[in-house]
Amino acid sequence: MKPAAFDYFRPSSLEEALAQLAAAGESAKVIAGGQSLGPMLNMRLATPSDLIDLNDLTELAYIRDVAGVLEIGALTRHDQIAESKLVQARCPLLAQAARTIGHYAIRQRGTIGGSLAHADPAAQFPLIATTLNAKIEIVKLGGQRSLPASAFFQSVMATALAPDEIIRCVRFPKVAENEGTSFRLFNRRHGDYAIVAVAATVALDDDRVSRVRVGLSGVSAIPQVWDDAVRPFVGRTPSAAWAAEVALAVRAAVSPEDDPRISAVYRKELTQTLVERALVDALSRAKG
Ligand SMILES: Cc1cc2nc3c(=O)[nH]c(=O)nc-3n(C[C@H](O)[C@H](O)[C@H](O)COP(=O)(O)OP(=O)(O)OC[C@H]3O[C@@H](n4cnc5c(N)ncnc54)[C@H](O)[C@@H]3O)c2cc1C
Repeated sequence: MKPAAFDYFRPSSLEEALAQLAAAGESAKVIAGGQSLGPMLNMRLATPSDLIDLNDLTELAYIRDVAGVLEIGALTRHDQIAESKLVQARCPLLAQAARTIGHYAIRQRGTIGGSLAHADPAAQFPLIATTLNAKIEIVKLGGQRSLPASAFFQSVMATALAPDEIIRCVRFPKVAENEGTSFRLFNRRHGDYAIVAVAATVALDDDRVSRVRVGLSGVSAIPQVWDDAVRPFVGRTPSAAWAAEVALAVRAAVSPEDDPRISAVYRKELTQTLVERALVDALSRAKG
C-alpha cells in the first residue's frame, strides 16, 4: 500500500520544527529514522496531515559526557550508540543492547528518540531507559520538561508525549566503578524483536552485593523494574547460586499474559534463564 497524502516539511532547526509542529495541530507527526513510522504510513496505520522530517536537525545527533551524565541527542542512530567508545565506557548496558537491535540497515537509520517515542514494549531502548531510570528531555514551542523513564512510558506504544512535543535528548546515569551490567534477550530469529529481554546491574561493596536492579521487557505492557523481588538478595555474598536464587524470585514475581503464539509459562521460563545469565555476566564485570 501507499501512504495517505500528507504535507511534508523538512525544517533546518529545532525551533523551526517546533513551530511547524505547533502550527500543524494534533494530526501532524515528526519522522526520524522512519523504521517504524514508514511501515505504519504505508499500511495506513498512521495517516498524519503533516509530516515533519527531523533528519536535518544535526544539533540533535550527538553523544556527550555532561556533568557526570551521558547525554544522547534524540537523532543519534542506533549504530552510533552501539559503536561509541564513550557509550561503551560510560554506559556499557546501552551499547550492548543497541548492538542487538534489528538488522544492520535498521541500526543505520533508527534513532534513539524514535525508539523511545514509538514505545514498542519489546524494544531495547525503552527497557534500558527504564532499568537505568534515564531522564527524557522533551521540548515544545516555548517550553521544555524532563521526565524519568518511569513516568514516560504509559502503555503499549503509548507515552506521556503530547502531540506538539519532541524528544530532544536522553540522559543516562554512568556505570559506577564497582558496578557490572548485562543485557540478554531471546528471539526466534536473529533481528526479530525479543520475546523476553533482561537488563541487569549489580554493584559490589566489600564482596557483598550492595545494589541490584533487574529490568524486563516481554512480561508486561511496558518495561518494568523488579525491585521488590530482588531486594531480599542485597547484602548477600555474590555467587552463581545467588544469581540462580534471584532469577527464581523474579520468575515468581512476573505474571505475563498468555498469547496465541507464546504461553505465559514459556515467558516465565525465559525470564528465569535470562535473568540468571545476565546476573552472572553482571557479577563477573562488577568484579572487574
Ligand atoms: C524489520 C524491523 C525490525 C526491527 N527490530 C527492532 C528490534 O529488534 N528492537 C528495537 O528496539 N527496534 C526494532 N525495530 C524498530 C527500530 O528500532 C526503529 O528505528 C525505532 O523503533 C524507531 O526509530 P525511528 O528513528 O526509525 O523512528 P520513526 O519510525 O521515524 O518514528 C517512530 C515514532 O516516533 C516518533 N518520533 C521520532 N522521533 C521523535 C522525536 N525526537 N521526538 C518525538 N517523537 C519522535 C514518530 O513521530 C513516530 O511516532 C525494528 C524495525 C524494523 C523495520
